[in-house]
Amino acid sequence: MSTAPAPRAGTEAALLADGTTVRIRTITADDRKAVLGLYTTGLSDESRRMRFFGVSRTAPRTATDRLCGPPRDGLLTLGAWAGDELVGEADCELLDEPPQTAELALVVADRWHHRGVATLLLEHLIHAARQRGVRFFEADALTGNRSVHKVFADLGLPVRRRYEQGEVRVRVPLDESDEHYREAVDERGRRADVASLAALLRPASVAVVGVSRREGSVGRAVLDRIRNGGFTGPAWAVNPAADTIAGEPAYPSVGALPGVPDLAVLAVPAAAVPAVAEECGRAGVRALLVLTAGLGAEQSGQLLDSCRRHSMRLVGPNSLGIAHTDPAVRLDAEFGGAFPLPGTAGVAVQSGGVGIALLERLAWLGVGVSGFVSLGDKYDVSGNDLLRWWEQDGRTDLALLHLESFGNPRAFARTARRVTRRMPVLTVDAGRSEAGRRGAASHTAAAATPTVVRETLFRQAGITATRGIDELVATAGLLHAQPLPAPRGAIAVVSNAGGIGILAADACAEAGLELPELPAELARLLPPGAGVRNPVDTTAAVLPAELTLFLRALEREEAVDAILVCLVPTALGTAQGRDPLRALLEGPASRPVPLAAVLLDQQVPIRYLACADGGVLPAYSDVAAAARALAHARDRARLLAEPPSPEAEPPGCDRAVARSLVDGYLDAHPEGGWPDPLTTADLLESYGLPLITSVWARDEHTAVVTAAGLGRLGHEGKAVLKAYWPGQVHKSEAGAVRTGLAGESEVRSTYREFTRSFGARLAGAVVQPMAAPGVELLAGVVQDRVFGPLVVLGAGGTATEVLADRTARLAPLTERDLTTMVTDLRTEPLLAGHGGAPPVDLAAVRSVLARLSRLATDFPELVEADLNPVIARPDGAVCVDARIRLEPRPSYDPYLRRLRRPAPVAAPGRHGR
Ligand code: ADP
Ligand code: MG
Repeated sequence: MSTAPAPRAGTEAALLADGTTVRIRTITADDRKAVLGLYTTGLSDESRRMRFFGVSRTAPRTATDRLCGPPRDGLLTLGAWAGDELVGEADCELLDEPPQTAELALVVADRWHHRGVATLLLEHLIHAARQRGVRFFEADALTGNRSVHKVFADLGLPVRRRYEQGEVRVRVPLDESDEHYREAVDERGRRADVASLAALLRPASVAVVGVSRREGSVGRAVLDRIRNGGFTGPAWAVNPAADTIAGEPAYPSVGALPGVPDLAVLAVPAAAVPAVAEECGRAGVRALLVLTAGLGAEQSGQLLDSCRRHSMRLVGPNSLGIAHTDPAVRLDAEFGGAFPLPGTAGVAVQSGGVGIALLERLAWLGVGVSGFVSLGDKYDVSGNDLLRWWEQDGRTDLALLHLESFGNPRAFARTARRVTRRMPVLTVDAGRSEAGRRGAASHTAAAATPTVVRETLFRQAGITATRGIDELVATAGLLHAQPLPAPRGAIAVVSNAGGIGILAADACAEAGLELPELPAELARLLPPGAGVRNPVDTTAAVLPAELTLFLRALEREEAVDAILVCLVPTALGTAQGRDPLRALLEGPASRPVPLAAVLLDQQVPIRYLACADGGVLPAYSDVAAAARALAHARDRARLLAEPPSPEAEPPGCDRAVARSLVDGYLDAHPEGGWPDPLTTADLLESYGLPLITSVWARDEHTAVVTAAGLGRLGHEGKAVLKAYWPGQVHKSEAGAVRTGLAGESEVRSTYREFTRSFGARLAGAVVQPMAAPGVELLAGVVQDRVFGPLVVLGAGGTATEVLADRTARLAPLTERDLTTMVTDLRTEPLLAGHGGAPPVDLAAVRSVLARLSRLATDFPELVEADLNPVIARPDGAVCVDARIRLEPRPSYDPYLRRLRRPAPVAAPGRHGR
């Protein structure tokens, strides 16, 4: 039974300030009745006067005609629908050619005022107008029209006003202070998101639909758990075929319940999901948790459409459930693991099986959970939503994520960058190997993303990415129990068995931790024969009291930021209460520097040692696990030590020139392609990228004349000739590059050689002055369809592939990214001035990166750029070879407030475990 019409193409769903979902789309001729209704019954006389600047009876009809006429190029319209009601409209007329300014009009139905409809419509209209090249919105408003003035004031864009006889002319530049605007949009998005999630994450009442009388069915199991788990509100059962279930009344439908549940849990067969979801929506349910798996594409589309039309947030399908330990809620709506201990860790997983494993390990360790969400196929609610919720729930101080795919990684990274400053955000980097990626694709119907891009995302967002569940728990266990080390992260390794100490020291070094030298006089605190070169060997004879004193002395050492104590039980020790472990158990957990233990006789990967002060110390069975956890803690300390870095904003980037070059090329090559060297140079130079002078020579004579002129500018008076033909890839390999040409005859004979070798293919040659030698670098950018532009810096020139020395960051780059990209390179010593050579102009290298980042961010059509080499020298950097690829790509604003689109592909199979 399908009730919902298919959603129209181009429809976006988004949240109002109070969390209500509205759908936004272009207004068409079919909407005439709705628009006229909005202008007449939707508005009071006063509102109508504000909108139409008077009381004309015909104005609403004329305005309706304008919006609902045949589509025009010069008119952009957007309507916001709540359910089937048109609640607001925003439109603009593009005034000049090319459109620079657009005249804006905006109206919201009276009873929908103060819910953010106008602001949301404006954000979407700004997005559409920017794509059309509009740079200013202008609007007239009556001075008394306070709500319109407030909308403009709060928008986050600089608004200029001019007052004239009771009217205000408002002018809003659309291309200024992007970051400020994005921040304002983000803040609104965050609030709306949190408001919309309350029904899901703090429900006052719950219904389970699809509860059979049979114990052990999914619906029944979840209902029992909700009731037995002490849920603080009513939990109703819906089953058309039963009057009572487990001794309590059951209801035939959601509509027949004694109240409207905030949250409905769906455990019905896939075929029934669309109809039940629609029924829930009609009844006024605010959130759905869909446990059912195996929905077909059509069922998925219908499910999501019902959620959007009826303003319900959705977890799943294919979810294992959710749990909240907040005593005010106490909701255990999941099937699988045990109800988690109350605590402060927020857990969100895509795979239910991973979720259960994670909850079990946390419970075993004694780390409590604030909330658990099994996201399943993630049609709607995603990791981003959870981060935003935990950020403000007042309970969560540790976020644990297991994500196999990203819907909107740029929005996720933006949220994570903020949240990681408040709490550790840990993730398992899933799908690292090719095999892992295949698994991810078939498992949750989401194409996993390539490793480098994902790692880069995690690093830039400050997320602690671990290699598996065990490493995640090992690291969470440390971060939860111990303070962070100082950012330097220098480790002192102490053991009562020399061999173990050496293994631990190796593991620390492999994890990238530094082991400082320790003062020799510390040895006097230990038994004879002890060694205090780091790793410290206390000998097996060490007494608990001696170890206690020694650790205390170590903690006071300036060189030490963290301590790793590795203990092996000895016959000597366990006898007569001389076990050195007592030094840890009888000491405090709270110490001046963090401490972790490795106990070689321990059976589990990590457990907590209860200490004298009531705190705990993490104890590991494996030195490598402990070392990696400490390295993650050090990385987090470094993140927090650095202030957030602003986005790099290179001066002198001419967007208008670049736009016309890109559009010009794509008009002539609708499929996209590699522009010729001169178009390439024009585009790169419009963003201030330093290209060497290149002149195009179509024939031998031009080549000779040009080379004579350019050669004079070149290093040692020499010129370079490069043969060109469309579609060429590596020029040197093909014999198409000749450097160091001096004099007319060399140039002439080189051109003749080109003609002989390349024949009819040869389109001409590029003539350049010879650049002075320097360090050859590769700088480039690739657009990832999902993650956006990735900027790459590496060792360049003809040895690029051999050296494979590269680093990457997702654009837009921050100022710090510019610096760390350079220091990431193994080649860095060459740049810093190796063997007495003067250092190269690093500011010039950073400027290249910043400009590439900006260009690729502004132009998603730039799908590839390869500047190789950029020759870096003490007096600057210059690129002698650039290739770019342009493709038609709609510009996509990852920060536009919108919910996920309908029709994700359904996952085959049932819950993956
Ligand atoms: P391709 O990368 O297609 O083989 P390039 O234009 O990068 O061709 O040239 C190959 C190499 O030649 C460069 O790595 C650089 O070492 C050298 N080279 C090219 N153009 C110049 C120039 N104008 N000045 C100095 N060296 C150059
Ligand atoms: Mg090259």
